[in-house]
Amino acid sequence: MRRILIVGAGQSGLQLAHGLLAEGYEVTIMSARTPDEIRNGWPTSTQAMFAPALDTERRYELNLWDDQAPPIAGLRVNLSAPPGTRALDVIAELERPAQSTDQRLKLAAWLELAEHRGATVVHNTASAADLDTLTTHGHYDLTIVAAGRSDLAAAFDRDPARSPHTTPQRGLAIAYVHGLAPDPDWPAPHVGFHAVPGLGELFVIPALTHAGACDILFWEAVPGEDLDRWPANGSRVPPTEHLQTTLDLAKQYVPWVYERCRNVELTDAKATLHGRFTPTVRTPIAHLPGGGVALGMADVVVTNDPITGQGANTAAKCADHYLRAILAHADRPFDTTWMRDTFEAFWTTTAHAVTAWTNAMLQPLPEHVQQILATAATNQAVAQRFAAGFADPSTLTDWFMTPTGAADYLASIRT
Ligand SMILES: Cc1cc2nc3c(=O)[nH]c(=O)nc-3n(C[C@H](O)[C@H](O)[C@H](O)COP(=O)(O)OP(=O)(O)OC[C@H]3O[C@@H](n4cnc5c(N)ncnc54)[C@H](O)[C@@H]3O)c2cc1C
Repeated sequence: MRRILIVGAGQSGLQLAHGLLAEGYEVTIMSARTPDEIRNGWPTSTQAMFAPALDTERRYELNLWDDQAPPIAGLRVNLSAPPGTRALDVIAELERPAQSTDQRLKLAAWLELAEHRGATVVHNTASAADLDTLTTHGHYDLTIVAAGRSDLAAAFDRDPARSPHTTPQRGLAIAYVHGLAPDPDWPAPHVGFHAVPGLGELFVIPALTHAGACDILFWEAVPGEDLDRWPANGSRVPPTEHLQTTLDLAKQYVPWVYERCRNVELTDAKATLHGRFTPTVRTPIAHLPGGGVALGMADVVVTNDPITGQGANTAAKCADHYLRAILAHADRPFDTTWMRDTFEAFWTTTAHAVTAWTNAMLQPLPEHVQQILATAATNQAVAQRFAAGFADPSTLTDWFMTPTGAADYLASIRT
């Protein structure tokens, strides 16, 4: 039986672990946190996931919250321009619903379930030295590092050709709340995407947390501008203060959301998160001092800003891709050629499009994107094609990403 070590019990690591266990592999998971620490900790994400990514979870019966998570019907895009005034309104329905299940709920349960399904779980925050030891003794046929945006990612070199940014592009601040009134124009659960040009964005995301259905108010702030009210060093802000700042900004910049916030309260004592990170693509193989190697997965090797809500989706797709590559490789050694080919195929089919689109959305919206959104405001076909891009960003490449592609598409719509 082949032995696989997965360092990091997050979206990608646990999903891959479950796939491998079901396929008869011997799996060891090294987790920095116990299930209770995950469950009772601070939120880590807004984790909106679209149907193709959810399908990869369903394949191994990890969809434990399908009956409880609010079915997200689509996206409503507004522009606040001038700030405080709604200038654009796009209602974009998804073909199939998305979901956001609090990672505290999901990953704690998945970790317990993995142990129940036969994984060996080791509770340890692996250091680079641990990784060196773990990969040199030949105990595992393959070591995968799925430790997210942690210090361990530094074991993988930054790939400057694929990493245009050297500083964080947004300050991130999320608050899980109960009591948000439904959008009066579209009461079905949907993601609200409220852009404040030059300053940032507010996302409103229906989700499921410990205490049931909720919403997440998520400010993405351009660093140094007026929405950027949370400490850049990440020092913890008391949750009630965090919520008050969130609401004060909503009142000023997106009053139509603030109107819905009259009865909001935090879902729990640890319902907030803020911080910032630099979007980075890394090379996929860590070469350890003792001669061992490890393959990086998901956020370890491709970290994008959450502005397009793709990190957990990409992590799920990465787990699915790596699983298929492991199964296809059968009994052959997992050498560096296999590792490089596996990552490059994932980059080409999935991560490249996500990264290009996400980095583009961090910039002021170019003229052709403004034209697309203006058309989408009155044309459902265009709006739905835009929404479909969140489910599969590779579908955006031909028409959304370049002025000529957009012009051709909009001309075809007119005829
Ligand atoms: C504010 C915010 C909002 C987001 N919103 C969305 C969204 O709406 N949609 C979306 O798709 N994505 C979103 N994301 C991104 C998404 O959460 C991540 O991309 C995704 O969880 C990455 O999965 P992963 O498996 O790579 O790592 P993670 O899910 O982060 O898991 C890594 C795990 O490794 C563990 N770990 C860390 N270091 C070690 C170590 N040394 N040893 C052992 N274990 C370790 C951690 O405790 C963690 O459990 C958001 C991110 C942020 C910050």
